[in-house]
Amino acid sequence: MERLEREPQSVMDDATFGCLQAGWEGAVGADADHLKAIGEIDRCLAAGFTSFTLDPGEHVRDVQGVVTDAQLLELPWAELEDDPASMARRYADLVVEVAGAPLPIPEEELRRAAAKYGAAIAYTVTMYRHLTTEAQYPIEVEVSVDETEEPTTLVEHVYMATEMKRLGMNWVSFAPRYIGGFEKGVDYIGDTTLFFESLSGHAQIAQALGPYKISLHSGSDKFSIYELAASATGRLVHLKTSGTSYLTALEIAARFEPSLFREIYDLSREAYRGARASYQVSAQLDRTPDSREVPDDRLGSLVTAADSRQILHVGYGAVLTLEDSQGVRRISDSLRTALGSHVAEYEAALETHIGRHLAPFADTRA
Ligand SMILES: [Zn+2]
Repeated sequence: MERLEREPQSVMDDATFGCLQAGWEGAVGADADHLKAIGEIDRCLAAGFTSFTLDPGEHVRDVQGVVTDAQLLELPWAELEDDPASMARRYADLVVEVAGAPLPIPEEELRRAAAKYGAAIAYTVTMYRHLTTEAQYPIEVEVSVDETEEPTTLVEHVYMATEMKRLGMNWVSFAPRYIGGFEKGVDYIGDTTLFFESLSGHAQIAQALGPYKISLHSGSDKFSIYELAASATGRLVHLKTSGTSYLTALEIAARFEPSLFREIYDLSREAYRGARASYQVSAQLDRTPDSREVPDDRLGSLVTAADSRQILHVGYGAVLTLEDSQGVRRISDSLRTALGSHVAEYEAALETHIGRHLAPFADTRA
């Protein structure tokens, strides 16, 4: 919403009319993703969002090595309604089974978990209490720390879930920071066997302490892990995609409006230097061709090749908000017009692409 300078209400209105237009008559729900401040919660509640992803990532600390008593005492114990001795006692007897055996929770690792996530828990609980006090209709809560530096270990997951429960929270879904790379627009980067093992551990903790869903963020285009994720979680999983229909829109532009597509591509490449800093991305500009080197009938390959696809993906903010001197968003308008002229092709492409994301998670039992 921020990158497109949009308000929750107008996003909700557009999505609602989109559903009507498409003839959808079932229930709908909207996810207010990565909320970091109380004010954002209020605006999304006012617009009727039903799912709230609380993101305390700014309060997660980078903790390495042994945590000293002094470091531990710095935690917001009053807000956590706790003290170091009670915490240690609570985990001494806690048994959570992972892979058929109790997960060891050494005190040193517990202290590290508290030092890393304690302040984040306190902040999450503050957001949660505000949200549940203000909400006038049923809502669901997800907690996400996926946009942080260090992977969430199994012990850290146990710590977070145990503390959130103790402080009275109910949530339906949790997004740890996984091992490996979840980058925009491209497949999972890393060892899929290790990912499966780690995801299975997280899913078993979620079963034992919930049950709640395990959430995969930046989950679009991760085709190499969907089957693994479905089986590791028993399909108790929340897959979040991002920019999925935008990239499909660009596929249509590449096919039918080559000059518009070239403009979008050039702008995205220009904007990439800036966009790089705020995303987990590894695309390299020098591995992407200049648009003038690519003939019209090959433009589609820029939407599929990993580097250019990622650059196009994270360029959406720069592209869609670009205004001329009259304040007209010409590229955004032209793209919309192009999609309007090729509705059938756009819908078919979306169905194929989104379908590839859904199929591995489908319940195939009769
Ligand atoms: Zn996320």
